[in-house]
Amino acid sequence: MRAYLYRSYGGPDVMQLATVPVPSAAPKSGYLIKIHAFSFNPIDFKRRSGALKALRPDTFPVILGYDASGTVEAVGEGASKFKVGDEVYLRIGQEFSQQGTAAEYTIALEKYVAAKPSNMSHEEAAAVPLAAVTALQMLRRAGFKAGDKVFISGGAGGVGTYAIQIAKALGASLVATSASSAKIPLLQSLGADEVVDYKTTKFAEVYKDRRFDIALDMTAECLDLFKVVKPGGSVASVVIAFSKESWTEAGKQGPGCEDLPSPGLFVRLFLWLSSRSLYNAASSASLSLYGVLLQPNALDLEELTKLVETGKLRSIIKDQVFTGVDASPEAFKLCESGRATGKIIVKVV
Ligand code: NDP
Repeated sequence: MRAYLYRSYGGPDVMQLATVPVPSAAPKSGYLIKIHAFSFNPIDFKRRSGALKALRPDTFPVILGYDASGTVEAVGEGASKFKVGDEVYLRIGQEFSQQGTAAEYTIALEKYVAAKPSNMSHEEAAAVPLAAVTALQMLRRAGFKAGDKVFISGGAGGVGTYAIQIAKALGASLVATSASSAKIPLLQSLGADEVVDYKTTKFAEVYKDRRFDIALDMTAECLDLFKVVKPGGSVASVVIAFSKESWTEAGKQGPGCEDLPSPGLFVRLFLWLSSRSLYNAASSASLSLYGVLLQPNALDLEELTKLVETGKLRSIIKDQVFTGVDASPEAFKLCESGRATGKIIVKVV
């Protein structure tokens, strides 16, 4: 099968298109999946650069891509939810993380696989698993409840476009976000009540009355977000502020599954040193701060499926769908530019 992969850490030049074997069989308690569409996410280039190697070292080659939509090709021993031919979507877990989704086939354990929303194409569905589950888990971790006022930094990105819609669907009374001017109408159409043009205006100035209950950080702007959230409120970041608790939360594997091991001493020390000043600043502003690491799982995907199938959640992929695994370099370049609107998709078949 064709795949987009890298054999060492480094810049964009270490990635290559290659022909590699199709995984030989479905894993125990999992599936072999024929991929119809996959997406790229910033984690792909952060991991490729080697920035995460102290936390999660890789063996090579690594096939890029974390999420996909496709059909079940083979069922492993002990897997029972789906049969051959079923349409599914998934965010792979760390068990087979070298076997990414930027290829024609991948493998995944059952606990990460959910039925594809019936009203989405494979391209639309492939956009959901990593980014939308992240948005849902950020809201949850920040203690979101109906009626809350929410500020979302970076509303036009993959995570932001879902976060706006999910916050509205779950009953936020005000959703405000930041984006560049050309992207404002789209974010309003997704449900944003107010959008600050981040190129001309500082959101920390506009909202210095601290009217928000919670804020979600996609742009490493926690210090400014502390200025807009009311005392007693909370800020969740997926970019900075990672702690031992972030790691432990991400390792919870859900009902019937054993949690992943807690971080070792070196990782705990690293996390503490890199984020303690932020936690001190949050505490001085009487706020709770949470560094959120995605915990992939099928249950959250199923919750999102309900929002999709009731028309409350959609994927923004327009003009960012590339065709064929061999179009991956072009798609990846857009992802790594940081200028995409919504999600970047590669349609495989
Ligand atoms: P994207 O690449 O999709 O974000 C790109 C968008 O961000 C563009 O539309 C860009 O708009 C906008 N943007 C960039 N800077 C700003 C800014 N200062 N203010 C407002 N908008 C801005 O990223 P994702 O949404 O996929 O991910 C966001 C971050 O979250 C990444 O760093 C990612 O690694 C992280 N993440 C972490 C996870 C975790 O588990 N911890 C999980 C998922 C994501 P424009 O072109 O107009 O500048």
